[in-house]
Amino acid sequence: MVDVVIIGSGPAGLTAAIYCQRFGLSTVVIAGRKWGGQLMLTTDVENYPGFRHILGPELMQKMRDQTKDLGVEIVDLSVTKLDTSKKPFLVTAEDKTFEGKTVIIATGADTKWLGVPNEGKLRGHGLSSCAPCDAFFFKGKPVAVVGGGDSAMEEAQVIAKVASDVILIHRRDEFRAQKAMIDKVMSLKNIRVLYNTQVMDVIGDTTLTGVLLDTRVISPKQGVASFDELVVAFSGVKKTNTQWELPRLGLFVAIGLVPNTQIFQGLELDSHGYVKRYEEKDENGVLKYFTKTNVPGVFTAGDVHDARYKQAVTAAGFGCMAALDVQRWLAEQEK
Ligand code: NAP
Repeated sequence: MVDVVIIGSGPAGLTAAIYCQRFGLSTVVIAGRKWGGQLMLTTDVENYPGFRHILGPELMQKMRDQTKDLGVEIVDLSVTKLDTSKKPFLVTAEDKTFEGKTVIIATGADTKWLGVPNEGKLRGHGLSSCAPCDAFFFKGKPVAVVGGGDSAMEEAQVIAKVASDVILIHRRDEFRAQKAMIDKVMSLKNIRVLYNTQVMDVIGDTTLTGVLLDTRVISPKQGVASFDELVVAFSGVKKTNTQWELPRLGLFVAIGLVPNTQIFQGLELDSHGYVKRYEEKDENGVLKYFTKTNVPGVFTAGDVHDARYKQAVTAAGFGCMAALDVQRWLAEQEK
């Protein structure tokens, strides 16, 4: 049995491990078969303090090396079950089981993709989910962003700074995003919006050249009288009475994230599937715990509970906080 089993090996999980190990707690990280989290899918990172420029996978390798050098056991298996019904907690990772006095859940969140036929083939070849990471590749090029929430507004703003022009594709004719963010996007001269439009597929042999769209109802906001006029207004190519091809060299998918919480039973999740945190204050009203879940002894860190900040550096910060909470909690149990 160890003091803490950390599930996940992105910045949150590895930072938690570094802190726990240095507190003298016996620590195991179950890293997952694809260890390292979202930064492993990123190219340039230029906003992680201490590194003016570093590649995402290189940054994660450094964090992993630092964690291992401290003596933390890192297991590259995927967790299949967390049993919180009794103590110690049982974490099953494929054919192995680990017992922990505490658990930190730091499994992150993955991009929600469109699920269209050619998506797998063109990912990384014109199709991206991260404008801050990949904007550089689209300098002066026509791109599109799909989504209608805050993420889509953010992606559109970031990419509009470098792309020649941006078409924001949304499946309804009302955005979900906050008004202030919509207003910002609308004020940019090189962004246009396509409403009531679904992405049916991405087109291109080796790199993306266009997007297959379906527009069934023309929104009054589009300022055109018919489907044919809409297609012409966006320099598209009509395919059927509702489907058309929009030529684009890049498409950014920003339709939300899926927190990796599917395997956790007994853990309270919010309506979007993120782990619910329960802050606790002491008798003087001072914050005592930040990363507790509904299960005493199970803590959470990083994007798996955070739909708001979603940065490597904030995930690392949450990892540190979870480790501090674990240390305090274990000390309280021993009193
Ligand atoms: P979101 O709020 O869930 O919005 C997802 C958007 O994508 C919605 O407009 C949705 O359309 C659309 N969508 C979902 N599935 C789709 C599909 N299969 N095809 C086409 N469109 C699809 O997700 P998010 O924008 O990533 O934001 C997640 C959370 O993070 C939110 O709470 C948000 O406020 C927060 N966030 C905050 C900031 C910020 O404050 N700076 C930045 C980013 C994110 P419908 O509207 O039709 O459902």
